[in-house]
Amino acid sequence: MVDMQMVDIDDQKAELSLRPDNWDDYIGQEKIKKNLDVFIKASKKRSQALDHVLFFGPPGLGKTTLAYLISSQMDSNIKITSAPMIEKAGDLASILTNLEENDILFLDEIHRLSPAVEEILYSAMEDYRLDIIIGSGPAAQTVKIDLPRWTLIGATTRAGMLSNPLRERFGMHFRLEFYSEDELSKIVKLASKKLEKIAYDDACKQIAKRSRGTPRIALRLLRRVRDFAEVVDEEFISKDRASYGLDELGVNKIGFDRLDIKFLELLVSNKGRPMGLGTIAAALSEDEGTIEDAIEPYLLANGYIERTARGRVATPKSYEVLRLSPPKDEKGLF
Ligand code: ADP
Repeated sequence: MVDMQMVDIDDQKAELSLRPDNWDDYIGQEKIKKNLDVFIKASKKRSQALDHVLFFGPPGLGKTTLAYLISSQMDSNIKITSAPMIEKAGDLASILTNLEENDILFLDEIHRLSPAVEEILYSAMEDYRLDIIIGSGPAAQTVKIDLPRWTLIGATTRAGMLSNPLRERFGMHFRLEFYSEDELSKIVKLASKKLEKIAYDDACKQIAKRSRGTPRIALRLLRRVRDFAEVVDEEFISKDRASYGLDELGVNKIGFDRLDIKFLELLVSNKGRPMGLGTIAAALSEDEGTIEDAIEPYLLANGYIERTARGRVATPKSYEVLRLSPPKDEKGLF
């Protein structure tokens, strides 16, 4: 059962109908699935709550979806919330005291917990106990409340920003990887069936190719391409319609959108010298977090940029995308 009141409804609403509701429809991330399957079976056999799980990786790779799938495998209730929604220690205390045996709490953006809230989590995770301080100064008292056995599933785009004490309290850590073209094609195909607008295999491939290895992007593009097919009354989504729609949306042949291109153009304009994150953010009018979480990981993983101690640099692959020649006279760069 899902506690919808706590879901950050905005973007998820459109995605919800396309979210896989069984393991078989969750494509890729095979190693994670295999491991989770073992741990879930083992804890069910022992009739124990699952150990706490931490997922990390860029947005849209399937962390929340995995949490839902775990809850259905465990036959547990799941509550969904995110760290910025928990302002005070009392907010977390009230969520935790409302949990029942074996319930799962999915906490997104866990790196954004405030230190005071994070501290409460330590004993709640380790000893299934809440230590709450009431009052202040010499009259302050610690009240201990026992909690049922529960499971925290934490998700973060920034594993590096998690404190050590918090990270160590998770029994399982999983890094989600970008998806291959084949995997994304399968995801698009399945989703097109759910949308009752079947995309031909080569159309799925077109969408997959241009989705930056990310299911959320693939599904968003599919929904838009479906609109293009619908207005011309096409029963199926053809490769040509997909290509046309994607071009119209400004997504280029390798899946870069306008922001990726602006980002690469900016680095290239620095003539091979590294550029700091602050300068990049100011030039693109984006905040640093968006650049670090949403833009850079794919470009780094695919060798378009490098991160050095002095900033970001474009690699020859980026110059190729922009149809430029890399600077040859820069010291030791290429
Ligand atoms: P995250 O929590 O990592 O930001 P989500 O779990 O919300 O990502 O995934 C975004 C969307 O992409 C989901 O609605 C789901 O439909 C789809 N999705 C993600 N991973 C997969 C997958 N492995 N197989 C099929 N669909 C997926």
